[in-house]
Amino acid sequence: MSKVLIIGAGGVGGVVTHKCAQVPEVFSEIVLASRNEAKCQKIAAQVERPIATARVDADNVPELVALMRDVQPELVINVALPYQDLTIMDACLEAGVHYLDTANYEPPDTAKFEYKWQWVYQERFEKAGLMALLGSGFDPGATNVFTAYLAKHYFDEIRTLDIVDVNGGDHGYPFATNFNPEINIREVTAECRHWEGGAFVATPPMSLKQSFTCPEGVGTYQIYRMYHEELESLTKHYPSLEHAQFWMSFSDNYLKHLEVLGNVGMTGIEPVLYEGRPIVPIQFLKELLPDPASLGPRTKGKTCIGVLVHGVKDGKPRDVYLYNVCDHQACYREVQSQAISYTTGVPAMLGAKMMLEGKWMKPGVWNIEQMDPDPFMADMQRHGLPWSVIEEPGYSLAH
Ligand code: NDP
Repeated sequence: MSKVLIIGAGGVGGVVTHKCAQVPEVFSEIVLASRNEAKCQKIAAQVERPIATARVDADNVPELVALMRDVQPELVINVALPYQDLTIMDACLEAGVHYLDTANYEPPDTAKFEYKWQWVYQERFEKAGLMALLGSGFDPGATNVFTAYLAKHYFDEIRTLDIVDVNGGDHGYPFATNFNPEINIREVTAECRHWEGGAFVATPPMSLKQSFTCPEGVGTYQIYRMYHEELESLTKHYPSLEHAQFWMSFSDNYLKHLEVLGNVGMTGIEPVLYEGRPIVPIQFLKELLPDPASLGPRTKGKTCIGVLVHGVKDGKPRDVYLYNVCDHQACYREVQSQAISYTTGVPAMLGAKMMLEGKWMKPGVWNIEQMDPDPFMADMQRHGLPWSVIEEPGYSLAH
């Protein structure tokens, strides 16, 4: 029985609140805080259990510490933006609270997402007897756990990893992003990096694509190789990996809009002066685009996210594909959100559940694949993200 403080009342924060509320035996009290308390109240009103709300600026450590001392949670679930990771970790250390997030720290002025800023907190969390669990969303998150599960049960050694994230959903807008537009566009327009022969190799964004047919009739989509943060931790924790890549599906329509927006400078992260005021183009663009939290009722179709691993078992080569399929409309019926926020919010709740039940509680800063995958995988089946395994799927992805 534990009190949890959720920070961030966006698309993901809404799902985390709904899903924690479904497990009262673990999350006995829930407090939802964000910069704009009205957003917290709107989410709280959708949930049958009482949810307390608060206003907090998560860029401000003293404000966070004061809130944590007032609320006295056991754990903070950080589903604000990656810019707030370090301030929330600092406040957790000061107030003596465990920490969990779904995305690694990004400095606002450079589109560079790396774990190094958070890994340096290892000793401080360990000494304080506190745990920080990093990347407990879907990707990163469930995809890391899938990799750990396959490495544990299906292989003696894993050699090649392809993470494939397909969103076959359609929201009917000419252009919208399924999670925070600023973070999404920074990620998609970043230089691509993949792991090859013990080092990261850089290639231009979106320069390698191929067609991918999802199981369970989800459909065939164009997937593009791009950099994603879990490649950094997985290649560190699985040094036998010779090759690791991340792929995401995009429609021609999405890419055409992005190309035009990029060409006219609307995706830039450097401030420009407009009538004497500095304006960051991508932040202005975010204001114009649909709020991802509003896409739920309109999005139809399914997501299919999984990992394809090649390796060796008992001296023989083996290929295994492990995936989850999630239906946008089913998510909306359950928690009033589309599947992208749902597939992120459920693993955030499950990571918190693992910690609070003591299954994963270990002082220090950890990536999710460093934990035992088995209890998390069992809970995914029970809490809305069922997964399946296909042995020898016959897929081959371009290298
Ligand atoms: P949204 O933009 O919908 O929500 C972010 C929320 O954070 C908003 O409610 C915002 O409040 C709040 N926030 C932002 N800055 C502050 C601040 N300084 N203080 C307090 N609250 C703040 O984003 P999403 O819900 O789509 O994404 C949430 C997180 O989940 C992001 O970090 C994203 O990268 C991550 N994510 C991870 C995925 C994974 O699979 N691992 C997939 C998708 C997302 P306000 O509205 O008041 O400004």
